[in-house]
Amino acid sequence: MKKIFLLITVSLLFTNCISVKSNLTATAVKQNNLQSEITQKRPKLIVGVVVDQMRYDYLVKFYNKFGEGGFKRLLTNGYDLKNAHYNYIPTYTAVGHTSIYTGTTPTNHGIISNDWYDKYQKKSIYCVNDANYKTVGATYGGNKSPQRMLTTTITDQVRLAQNMHGKTIGIALKDRSAILPAGHTATAAYWFEGNNVGKFITSTFYMNTLPQWVVNFNNSGKADNYLNQTWNTINDISTYTESLPDNNNYEGLFKGKTTPTFSYNLKELRKTNNNFDLLKAIPFGNSITTDFAEAAITGENLGKSNYTDFLAISYSSTDYVGHKFGTNAIELEDTYIRLDKELETLLNFLDEHVGKGNYTLFLTADHAAVPNPSYLNDLKIPSGYFKSEEFKKYVKATTLKYFNSDKIVENISNYQIFLNKEEIKALGLDVNKVAQIIADEIINFDKVYKSVTAHTLQTANFSSGLMQTIQNGYNQKLSGDILFVPTPGVVSYGKKGTTHGSGYNYDTHVPLIFYGNSIKKGSSNVYYPITNIAPTISSLLNINEPDGCTGQTIIEVLK
Ligand code: ZN
Ligand code: ZN
Repeated sequence: MKKIFLLITVSLLFTNCISVKSNLTATAVKQNNLQSEITQKRPKLIVGVVVDQMRYDYLVKFYNKFGEGGFKRLLTNGYDLKNAHYNYIPTYTAVGHTSIYTGTTPTNHGIISNDWYDKYQKKSIYCVNDANYKTVGATYGGNKSPQRMLTTTITDQVRLAQNMHGKTIGIALKDRSAILPAGHTATAAYWFEGNNVGKFITSTFYMNTLPQWVVNFNNSGKADNYLNQTWNTINDISTYTESLPDNNNYEGLFKGKTTPTFSYNLKELRKTNNNFDLLKAIPFGNSITTDFAEAAITGENLGKSNYTDFLAISYSSTDYVGHKFGTNAIELEDTYIRLDKELETLLNFLDEHVGKGNYTLFLTADHAAVPNPSYLNDLKIPSGYFKSEEFKKYVKATTLKYFNSDKIVENISNYQIFLNKEEIKALGLDVNKVAQIIADEIINFDKVYKSVTAHTLQTANFSSGLMQTIQNGYNQKLSGDILFVPTPGVVSYGKKGTTHGSGYNYDTHVPLIFYGNSIKKGSSNVYYPITNIAPTISSLLNINEPDGCTGQTIIEVLK
């Protein structure tokens, strides 16, 4: 480009030819037109929808249960990527949301888990806690910021590209699912404080007082109304053919229930289940999220200015329901049938208030989930439970045996071992050698499948498989000294319900659908890592990708 410019300049200097001059002017005008065309064609609003703990196969399993206006509308009129995966460990909420919006993995963005051991402060920290900021809208729950996230997000890039014009807003029941997607330069992030509060709140990181539309929403009594009803299946319970019987051994209980069965008298249950926290754990938590998203669209006039706005919504209740009841429960099936209706409501609202064709939407999940391991075990599929306390004892015995010290290990969390470097130095030992001996020994512990030292991750390059997912999740500055992985189907969790976090397909395979302005109709079975979402939106808007982005544009979805 520079060369061409130089050539043109040189030729301009050395000729008096009028036609060259006029050609140049025409090119410049054409380029200006192209630039303004790109800016004008930008959608008025980008909507990111993340469904917490949604497996890809729910789209297939529940397809016939969905109406025409929700998931089916996106699948039919948008672009369905059937083979989208997480490409790192651990597949947890904070990490998932951050990776979607930064277009990279913990190696670069620094959100290595929800909570992790901070080896510099020598204590456990939570991803978005930040004592520098105060709660806005309640008396607690808002000392938060995105400052542990080390790179920019696609939402930041939208703001930067428009000279800080355009609004970016994050909404979720969970703080981390609102804060991290909205980025460092967010107009706002709002999340739901449960307990006895029952309000959407924020942090002084964003503002000092809530906007009037948020105050009005919180005073509307909506949260209370949802909890003053009974949760029954929305359709006749006999039609829930994709789930196990309502009363089975694999589901957890709300306090005050003796069986995991419908109906759920919420008015009673809220008394024993921490009041407004109950709302998070039932499908109506998704309903109030939609209500609040709609209030944000009208309250902030999203999609109405000359700039592109960004609304990042995360539906958190699916995760709470999944954890409590597992992937094969009628409670879960009902939650997705109801979420489908929420999506229909949201899409209709966007059509009406932003305009059909004026917005682009993507829908994905922050991770998926494994079926209840006891259920898998009953089906003779290898699975089980990792015994964390016994593992800690085993590691202690190992360090005593080899180094005659029980102070070598500082912390074990998130399947990582943090070594006490001072102790190792004091004993005159070599950190790398100590780490390798421990890594070699723990492979003998029940259900440890792989172990690797930080040193190996720093000096080798894994280009595929499980080892690559470990490497993509490893951050040299923040991670532990030995990382290990349990065998497939094995979790550190109670026997009821389920969880997620691994690099196996049951946790990594998620839905990914693009829809709306600039998006083709179609579907594809090509493998894509979810880190490709952010650069695809960058390409669509013709703006810079987030600064640590390692994903690539999914060309096939763009018009
Ligand atoms: Zn999650
Ligand atoms: Zn979860």
